Amino acid sequence: MFRSWTEIRSDFLKTNLKELRSQLPSNCGVISVLKANAYGHGAVEVATALKTDSQAFAVACLSEALTLRQSVPDRDIFILGPSVPTERGDVVKNGFIPTVSSAEEATEYAQYAGSHRIRISVKIDTGMGRIGIWQDDAQAGLEAISRLPAISVHSIATHLPSGDKDPVFSQQQLEWMQKHSDAFRKLFPGVLLHALNSAGILEFPHYAFDLVRPGLALYGIASPRKHQHRLKPVLSWKARVINVRDVNKGRSISYGRTYITSKLSRLATLSVGYADGYPLQLSGSSAYVLIHGHRCPVVGCITMDQTIVDVSEHPTVSPGDEVVLIGEQQAEKITAFDVADWANTIPWEILTRIHRRVRCVFLPLY
Ligand SMILES: *Cc1c(COP(=O)(O)O)cnc(C)c1O
Repeated sequence: MFRSWTEIRSDFLKTNLKELRSQLPSNCGVISVLKANAYGHGAVEVATALKTDSQAFAVACLSEALTLRQSVPDRDIFILGPSVPTERGDVVKNGFIPTVSSAEEATEYAQYAGSHRIRISVKIDTGMGRIGIWQDDAQAGLEAISRLPAISVHSIATHLPSGDKDPVFSQQQLEWMQKHSDAFRKLFPGVLLHALNSAGILEFPHYAFDLVRPGLALYGIASPRKHQHRLKPVLSWKARVINVRDVNKGRSISYGRTYITSKLSRLATLSVGYADGYPLQLSGSSAYVLIHGHRCPVVGCITMDQTIVDVSEHPTVSPGDEVVLIGEQQAEKITAFDVADWANTIPWEILTRIHRRVRCVFLPLY
């Protein structure tokens, strides 16, 4: 029996991708974003589930790309973050598509060219402010890259920093891409343009260009939340009740003694803590878990391996019972977004922080 485990519904991955596709032009390709072990869902398993419906995959770095290579031998793998100079040879040798931020970086890649031209994706910074050629310098930078015979520009991409929160700014970025798309296509015939992450696909599907890069939405979490009804959360996270005790009024609970019982209470201790990725920041919040289909509030500080919840209203709760941290139980439901709100963070962080000590179970088991 696992102390804490996640259950991954691979069939929902396909359902979510299909839902995203339903809003996109039929000739638009999908780059499924599998960085950080597919947002904690298991990169190899997710790639296997999505390979027939994805034109390509994307990861953060060379080592993640190498992990995927065997699972999807006939699909392009994009590396979304910059590779350090010592990695570039291996990026080229394995045929991964690196994200390049300047003509200088493209020139560095060019030295690894063999008989084939090296395919790169050029990032344009239209407001993300992380990597890429600043938009005002894009034309000059791209012209310089076009003079490198060893380089083939596979795609030109930009990224939305606020696709779920700032439609006006996002629209400006997408309009900029639109306005320059003819010039880009003229400079690099056959080049593919892409801009949309999950929020972009949900909010601005008419700016799909040639490819889209969904991450979070594949895993069934919608940001902005108003689109949640369209998606099915892929991951559930569970633990067990490992101890039940009756505790008198006035007793201190857990580290720091931040919670004092205000009445005779029945408390259950759960087999999950912050070392599993259950956020310490849930301590003192309005967080709850589901046991027997009931909401049971978290009390006191989350500890490394154990969490305490109040089950005073549910006297039949016993050691061994299943606890839902994220997912559904009877009529109740907790999403990664709920946990993120309680912990003052974002669902991407909640999912990617689930530790590898938490066992991953893939469903349905065929
Ligand atoms: C992570 C990432 C994505 C996917 O983002 P989601 O918001 O999870 O859909 C897309 N593009 C780039 C460049 C990324 O880094």
